[in-house]
Amino acid sequence: MIKGLHRLSTLKSTWVNRDNTKGLCVGCLSANAGNGLCHLCKADLPVNQWHCYCCALPLAFPGAGTLCGDCLQSPPPFDRSLIPWRYQYPVDSMISRYKYNGQRKFARPLIAGLSEHLHTAILESGEAKPDILIPSPMFPARRRKRGFNQARDIAESLGKALSIPVDTGVVRRVHKVQAQRGLSREARLANLRGVFKVCAAVPERVAIVDDVVTTGATVRVLASALREAGAKEIQIWALARTPG
Ligand SMILES: [Zn+2]
Ligand SMILES: [Zn+2]
Repeated sequence: MIKGLHRLSTLKSTWVNRDNTKGLCVGCLSANAGNGLCHLCKADLPVNQWHCYCCALPLAFPGAGTLCGDCLQSPPPFDRSLIPWRYQYPVDSMISRYKYNGQRKFARPLIAGLSEHLHTAILESGEAKPDILIPSPMFPARRRKRGFNQARDIAESLGKALSIPVDTGVVRRVHKVQAQRGLSREARLANLRGVFKVCAAVPERVAIVDDVVTTGATVRVLASALREAGAKEIQIWALARTPG
């Protein structure tokens, strides 16, 4: 079904990315797509069904409120992660096209799906909403190069759908970090020390918004800074989580 996504890489500047193609599925180009993905391609997305309650790490077994070994051993400075998909094909390709090629059409179905997921998990269950959404900040030079911060774009869509204000001024990324790949968890955390600066008052309940959570090192450091500045309940909202 969604194998057609490969084909779309060659069509990136053509009709699939134009506004007048509303209704076409980005996975297979069939018509009648809601939010850019037909129901068959939507059913093919890798759902993060069994996962750690706290960091959303995909797990091989079910269990409500289960924690992964990492969260048991070293509890993160946040309370819960709501991340509906696993970072696997085709979600990884869709996010790459959005992030690196600026093709928002590929993110639209994922953002809409995340919004539905949050609606069920928070609003329909009667939980209190976060006071603000905080997009994971990007280093300014990097944002200029990319042209946009995908975390901010996602947060703005969620904020509109769930009626929660987005605050982009609360925290800033003040240092560039070295590549994290290949570093141990301790080294990653040390690498990120002092990277975020909280610049304004932080309300009690916040949700950090990002596109993908990989090792979780960045959200740990960001959540620590927000907790030190007064946040009491911190959630992580993202599109996808890497399997480990
Ligand atoms: Zn389709
Ligand atoms: Zn965990």
